[in-house]
Amino acid sequence: MTIPNIERAALADINNADTQSNLQLVRAKYLGRKGSLTQLRRGLKSLPVAARAAQGREINVCASNLSEAIESRMAALEQSALDENLSREALDVSLPGRHQSHGGLHPLTQVLHRIEDIFVGAGFDVVEGPEIETDYYNFTALNIPPDHPARAMHDTFYLGDDGNTEFVLRTHTSPAQVRTMEAREPPLRIISPGRVYRRDSDITHSPMFHQVEGLAIDRDLGLAHLKGVISDFLNRFFEMPLAVRFRPSYFPFTEPSAEVDVQCVHCKGAGCRSCKYTGWLEVMGCGVVNPRVLHMSGIDSEAWSGYAFGFGVDRLAMLYFGVADLRQFYAGDLDFLTQFDRL
Ligand SMILES: [Zn+2]
Repeated sequence: MTIPNIERAALADINNADTQSNLQLVRAKYLGRKGSLTQLRRGLKSLPVAARAAQGREINVCASNLSEAIESRMAALEQSALDENLSREALDVSLPGRHQSHGGLHPLTQVLHRIEDIFVGAGFDVVEGPEIETDYYNFTALNIPPDHPARAMHDTFYLGDDGNTEFVLRTHTSPAQVRTMEAREPPLRIISPGRVYRRDSDITHSPMFHQVEGLAIDRDLGLAHLKGVISDFLNRFFEMPLAVRFRPSYFPFTEPSAEVDVQCVHCKGAGCRSCKYTGWLEVMGCGVVNPRVLHMSGIDSEAWSGYAFGFGVDRLAMLYFGVADLRQFYAGDLDFLTQFDRL
């Protein structure tokens, strides 16, 4: 191949090299140790002396032309690689942002926090107890001995083999009151929130639900204090002044006992579906602690007295948020739950 032919072919190769590494291959093909021009240079020795100088000059000129062409092609390829990187990494500020959803507290948790805040503000401590309870703490210590008819109202889940009734899933959070009375000296003011279990399931009942029990023990505490605390709590919870009434009732662990009704939060007493057109909503049970319960927990019922109350958190949450079917709280439906996201 003549030198001009080599140069033409090399220039074409250089222009066609589309990457820096391909261009390095082209350089090796012509200028490398085994490159075409290097071979020609080696062949100079075999030429007649007169022809050597001219041929040598021609090879050198060609080599320097090719070097120059390679350098300039290399610079061009570097620039285009840089441009491509820049355009790939460019930030398009007109693109819509990626949505990042945040978590929120479950509506029942929100309601539980509100309840705790109100009672803590009134001087109550929050205590918790085990969800698996012994028969003694769940019933007997609350003045519900074996064969007491009140046990039938509780639809209890018993744990263990048939006939073994020592352990139960607690049917109310009242056992935590007994445990507190045993462990602490009065005066006491506690609430005990938590999960409780009963064999019951329909639109207003779930086999697992939440209760808050309250207990206060002090000198000369009675019904008047109880009414004050309960009325104040309900007004604060529903964020409006609502009439509260107490109806005589029966619970084994309190004497006297009462059911508490609050004026309907939806119709303010005029009558609506929520209150079955009575104007009132039944929200909790309460009473003066039965001296027998104090006695069983080692508290001198001559020196101390107290009141207790208990209510369903789920029921208050349904009224507070205006939810008709309790089961929606447990269905895990995000469309439903995010309505209550108040973060
Ligand atoms: Zn109503």
